[in-house]
Amino acid sequence: MSEPRTFDILVVGGGMVGSALALGLSRQGWHVGLVEGSERQALLAAPAPADCVEKFEPRVSAISVASQRLLEDLGAWPAITAGRYCPYQTMTVWDGDGTGRIQFDAAELQARSLGTIMENRHIVRGLFAALAESAVELIDGVNVSGWRQGDSRSGGQHGVDLADGTALAADLVVAADGAHSRLRQWVGLPTREWDYEQQAIVCTVRTTQSHRFTAWQRFSPTGPLAFLPLLAENGDEHFCSIVWSQDTEEARRLMALDDTAFARELERAIERELGAVESVSRRFAFPLRQRHAKNYIAPGFALVGDAAHTIHPLAGQGANLGYGDVRALLDELSRARKTGLSAADELVLARYQRRRKADNLTMMAAMEGFKQLFARDELPLRWLRNTGMRWLNQLGPVKNRIAAEAMGLDA
Ligand SMILES: Cc1cc2nc3c(=O)[nH]c(=O)nc-3n(C[C@H](O)[C@H](O)[C@H](O)COP(=O)(O)OP(=O)(O)OC[C@H]3O[C@@H](n4cnc5c(N)ncnc54)[C@H](O)[C@@H]3O)c2cc1C
Repeated sequence: MSEPRTFDILVVGGGMVGSALALGLSRQGWHVGLVEGSERQALLAAPAPADCVEKFEPRVSAISVASQRLLEDLGAWPAITAGRYCPYQTMTVWDGDGTGRIQFDAAELQARSLGTIMENRHIVRGLFAALAESAVELIDGVNVSGWRQGDSRSGGQHGVDLADGTALAADLVVAADGAHSRLRQWVGLPTREWDYEQQAIVCTVRTTQSHRFTAWQRFSPTGPLAFLPLLAENGDEHFCSIVWSQDTEEARRLMALDDTAFARELERAIERELGAVESVSRRFAFPLRQRHAKNYIAPGFALVGDAAHTIHPLAGQGANLGYGDVRALLDELSRARKTGLSAADELVLARYQRRRKADNLTMMAAMEGFKQLFARDELPLRWLRNTGMRWLNQLGPVKNRIAAEAMGLDA
């Protein structure tokens, strides 16, 4: 076998998280390789202008202000926002089973927006455009197919094999290969996981009324429904991406409906806040599973993004947690580089893990608490959550503090 191509750091997985990490590491001066299974031409292809529901990608993310800052710092924001995106000024959350309602407003927080709804492919496309201008060595269109633990013969470097037979080696390998991370399994980092017994139905809809640049979220005992505002290139503000998380049986029933019947159910579920649903794109259903790696690191190895944790999409925080990982790992590796430490230094990796595990676990526990609170329909709990929401809505400073945390304004 020929000698492997070597790097300081090898990132496996060029999704929203891995491509941002590779870009940041390269800016710090590390010699970085990025392996992505998809072809770069496909990821860089310009999507058609959105003049109907089918033209939007069904997978979108609510990018927080903190994540936006990271993408700006990496210099990728202009390329990302060359595509479609929709900043939202208001967020309305209510209990479909009562009278509780909370409204968050960017103006009250003196912020330009509460966040930005973006199609995932526009984020990846912008990051790949920035990567093309960087020193990152992009190895695309091929999957990682194996892992070789480093030893004294390899100078401590770990190796990965590609499906085309190429061998790569690096001091530090970072797995950003998503929720079903094969690297995490090969390296032997166990996860704690449980099934929500829910599925998230995602699709794009067009409504008769404008979305008013508001993210809408209605809770019901069988799960939350979100209408996330989208903006077409021609300024049409009647498109929304929906994420409808429902107990598995109910999700199956909704998936089996024809488009007209599904649209009528949606209108009822969102209480016609946006008028009628006049068209619905193809629907996709994702089984929802909470997953958290017990450890994010091993010698010369680290996990980031969904490879380390996946959470319920009810607060739209999955990618934002991944960007929190990227920020922390970039901070620690920048410090290592300035002090002449190896990228695989165990204290550097331990600090990364310590910083991120606590934050990610807190967010996961909060999501679980929310889900449980709204899943129960005993009268005292209903009274408590409705009274609590109304009370919180009137308490400006407390409410704004919660919104600032969710936006990552303190990050
Ligand atoms: C229904 C739903 C709604 C969501 N809504 C939101 C939201 O509003 N806001 C939010 O922040 N998050 C949201 N999320 C979560 C968000 O989509 C994920 O957290 C995010 O996509 C994770 O990014 P990632 O880069 O870690 O992983 P992925 O996006 O899974 O990327 C992994 C990459 O690795 C590549 N890869 C995998 N295996 C290999 C291999 N062996 N070799 C080479 N390449 C490989 C893949 O091709 C892919 O490009 C939602 C999730 C769901 C299910």
